Amino acid sequence: VNLLLLRPDELQGDTARVEDRRAQHVREILDKTTGDRLRVGVEGGKVGEATIVAADDRGVTLSVRLDQEPPPKSAVTLVLALPRPPVLRRLLQQVTAMGVGRIVLLQTNRVEKSYWHSPALRAAAVVEQLRLGLEQARDTVLPEVWTRQRFRPFVEDELPSLTTSRRLLVADPHATQACPADVRDPVVLVVGPEGGFVDFELQALASVGARAVSLGERPLRVETATLALLGRIVPAKGRDA
Ligand code: SAM
Repeated sequence: VNLLLLRPDELQGDTARVEDRRAQHVREILDKTTGDRLRVGVEGGKVGEATIVAADDRGVTLSVRLDQEPPPKSAVTLVLALPRPPVLRRLLQQVTAMGVGRIVLLQTNRVEKSYWHSPALRAAAVVEQLRLGLEQARDTVLPEVWTRQRFRPFVEDELPSLTTSRRLLVADPHATQACPADVRDPVVLVVGPEGGFVDFELQALASVGARAVSLGERPLRVETATLALLGRIVPAKGRDA
């Protein structure tokens, strides 16, 4: 945890009391106690620093100063064929840490329908993973998560309004074009299921202007491909540019 993420209702003026796994993490993993300082942020708001004013077996009380903006989100919408639950949990967390602003979980032909009934998709479970991603990346703003269980209406009716066709990318190991790097305009990246897209789906995506892009001929696991694609697409602001 690189930032202790407070809920707005935990803040009373500039004091906050935390008693759950976050307090345990502060005391046992970060090894912090009364008088120590740590980075904090409030969900949906600013980041800053807190001083521990009391620590006991139940939790920690913090004096909080929030004076900085969280890092900007990347203008990437990730459309992901709903992966199996353990992969979903990890990806929600990791793509949140990478700054993705919107995640669309989509039914495709090769997505097992039972995945939609997984506890990993319950609202509280999703938010838990998103918060872990925010804590990792010192961010405070939850990405939007949409679920779409009908492929065709989403692709035909909603997808075109999310970006210009120039920036609508479908990840496909068979594509001849390389995935672009450091894209500055809003991008929608569509990643398929472990079994890949069926032809009809690739055609439907192409018919709304999606461009097939590849990371090379090796079919990578969804998790690897998603993170590698985002690593290329998300602009390299702050690096040695
Ligand atoms: N058998 C499938 C095929 O040949 O398309 C492999 C699917 S791959 C395991 C799962 C998804 O990850 C793909 O639909 C694609 O969106 C993405 N992916 C995996 N490897 C990729 C690569 N080298 N380039 C671009 N996308 C890739």
